[in-house]
Amino acid sequence: MSSPAQASSQAIRALLRKLGKLYDIKRGLKPFSDNKDIYVLLRYFDDSCCYCGKNLLNCEWDKDHLIPMNKDSVGLHSWGNIVPSCKECNGKRQKKDWVLFLKEITGMKSEVFNQRKIKIDTYVSQYNYSLSVTLELAILTNQLQIEVSEIVSKLINDKMQEAIDLFDKYL
Ligand SMILES: [Zn+2]
Repeated sequence: MSSPAQASSQAIRALLRKLGKLYDIKRGLKPFSDNKDIYVLLRYFDDSCCYCGKNLLNCEWDKDHLIPMNKDSVGLHSWGNIVPSCKECNGKRQKKDWVLFLKEITGMKSEVFNQRKIKIDTYVSQYNYSLSVTLELAILTNQLQIEVSEIVSKLINDKMQEAIDLFDKYL
């Protein structure tokens, strides 16, 4: 990934983190705390990866987002969207729709699929995570991406020009 693109995806993630806190507050919740609330999250999901069911105690795991945190999906870092995932599942899933991914992971075992899907659906509705704002938000995040890319590209070009002047002077 080139650096302007990297900078804009970082800016988008920063925005979605901040918006996640705001969205939590708007829903009357205490903003999700990456330190304390992972235990609440783990407890709800029975200390397991929400996709494959692997026990996560005593191993490293990731906070995954059901709706991915990127400019197009616009998932927020907030209650109802953050789920515990083992490293393998998080690596494999990428931007894939979580229901499709869950289907893949559980294979032919539809009973396991249904159980886990209900568990996740209940989590989402319990925190009232609503998707209705994402289209409008996607306009904002797409704008942010373009603006950050433009600014970073311009800054890099400016500095390149200054460096070229230095080169001319000393080399
Ligand atoms: Zn897993």
